[in-house]
Amino acid sequence: MSPARTAALRRALLRWYDARRRALPWRERVTPYRTWVSEIMLQQTTVAAVVPYYLRFLERFPDVRALAAAPEDDVLKAWAGLGYYSRARNLRRAAQAIVAEHGGKFPSDYDSVLALPGIGRYTAGAILSIAFGQRQPLVDGNVMRVFSRLFKVEEDVKKAKAAAAFWELAARLLPRRRCGDWNQALMELGATVCVPEAPSCGLCPLAKTCAANRLGLQDRLPVMPPRRAWVDLRWSCLWIEDAGRVLLWKRDDKERFLRGHWGLPESRHVKARPGRLLKTARHTITHHRIVIDVREAALAAQAPPQAEWVSRAQLGERLVSSLWTKCLP
Ligand code: SF4
Repeated sequence: MSPARTAALRRALLRWYDARRRALPWRERVTPYRTWVSEIMLQQTTVAAVVPYYLRFLERFPDVRALAAAPEDDVLKAWAGLGYYSRARNLRRAAQAIVAEHGGKFPSDYDSVLALPGIGRYTAGAILSIAFGQRQPLVDGNVMRVFSRLFKVEEDVKKAKAAAAFWELAARLLPRRRCGDWNQALMELGATVCVPEAPSCGLCPLAKTCAANRLGLQDRLPVMPPRRAWVDLRWSCLWIEDAGRVLLWKRDDKERFLRGHWGLPESRHVKARPGRLLKTARHTITHHRIVIDVREAALAAQAPPQAEWVSRAQLGERLVSSLWTKCLP
């Protein structure tokens, strides 16, 4: 693309962004901490779902130091319902690293940001461009979709070759100024206009330069990989109750799912005599479909140290994932 056409494309998209961008809480007062929390929450989660969580989280943990000092259970509780809980655990770990290694100040150099737990190339680019105004590109699912249509990239978007092409395009198109706005404008276009099904090309500021629009390829691009097959799992969980208290289990780092969470013990965790089936619950995590049988049970040996008796009234505070709330009889 010629320099003149690149400049025209940048102008058109930034002008559209200035006029049409959504008013979102993390755009109101931009700081590295606020941008970081929003970016982590927005991974695999919609804007509408994130907004109330974001506001509550910022109220509960207003800065890096507050987050670093919080017990992990408190952070998971604030995250309850958002899913993908490793994001919350990494957020807290990264806050602790920022306090320990950077005096509580969010680092502003690329390598230090990338070294923080839970921060990859995309998130580093987002924080540095949006909150620090640095000239850093980023590519997420929205940007990939816009680029693949705009420039007719016909590679499977999950292939390394396609990823390299998208990052190359992102770096080449970055304007000299307003890089944070530019990156947000690309993502905003993908989220609101150049959407996966039936993009609104009539409202798009880039329609005149878009290859997919010119050639009618909108529904063929981007090229997606075949959908992953479902994996079916069955868990056997135990409801062990005694004098109004229920035995909960702290899942360790070796678990495949919900590491660090309190939950009901599974039959492999404790020695118990299982009784009648109380409930069968269903839950999905990524491409796993989990069926959970909850059985009444009585302990057959002393509870191991990973277990704790919790009153019924406190269950809501401990059972953070919706998987467990579905299991309550
Ligand atoms: S013209 Fe249509 S396909 Fe092309 S970038 Fe805009 S919305 Fe997407």
